[in-house]
Amino acid sequence: MTPRILIWNENVHERTNELVRGLYPQGIHGALREALLARGFADVATVTLQDPEHGLTEARLAATDVLVWWGHKAHGEVSDAAVERVALRVWQGMGLIVLHSGHFSKIFKRLMGTPCALKWREAGEIERLWCLNPGHPIAAGLPPYIEIPQEEMYGEPFSVPEPLETLFISWFAGGEVFRSGMTWLRGAGRIFYFRPGHEAYPTYHNAHVQQVIANAARWAFNPAPAWVDVTAAPNVPAEAAPSPLKAQGARLHGDGEQGYR
Ligand code: ZN
Repeated sequence: MTPRILIWNENVHERTNELVRGLYPQGIHGALREALLARGFADVATVTLQDPEHGLTEARLAATDVLVWWGHKAHGEVSDAAVERVALRVWQGMGLIVLHSGHFSKIFKRLMGTPCALKWREAGEIERLWCLNPGHPIAAGLPPYIEIPQEEMYGEPFSVPEPLETLFISWFAGGEVFRSGMTWLRGAGRIFYFRPGHEAYPTYHNAHVQQVIANAARWAFNPAPAWVDVTAAPNVPAEAAPSPLKAQGARLHGDGEQGYR
């Protein structure tokens, strides 16, 4: 099965800043799409903040297996309704790859449940991302570390929940370190956060960075049927239990009653 990949980009700096437009004339979403197509993915679409419903309609999300997210300046412009639609699809099994400044996106904070804050500095310094598990699918085909000549610094503490796996740790020339690649499960959905990608630098043209994102798209793909009723909380009557019971004792709830939300 070919994963259906959707790249979401706020697409603000590419339209308003000469420097960023020069680096990404087709937008960051366009550069990421090219990189995934070149690595064997056949079904890669893009949408942006400016599209109706930010391109994140229920139908579009239902037809998406892995969503890639890049946002920075316009996190607050993403509607809460769209965030809830994405969260539901992740719980149902859609993969989510959150890049760089997406750490402060509404959807990432919603799914992490923590501030997702960090230290930062824009000084064009060297970043080395050390791989902690060369045998992990997300690290396939990579050298022991990825070196990016100029990047924005992100430093610990990064206030996210303890991950399922920590796959990359970054060292910066200024001395800070950062957990740059981490995975989580939320419901049936696989989430990967990957740090690099400040829009003032050509980071998404780096072949190793592209390789990580492609590997992550493969890893995050859950081919199982969507867990469509993941939010359901049904009452199971005593007589319908796997081993049927006769209800006894005090009861707060009547037969067939909906639970509280
Ligand atoms: Zn940045």
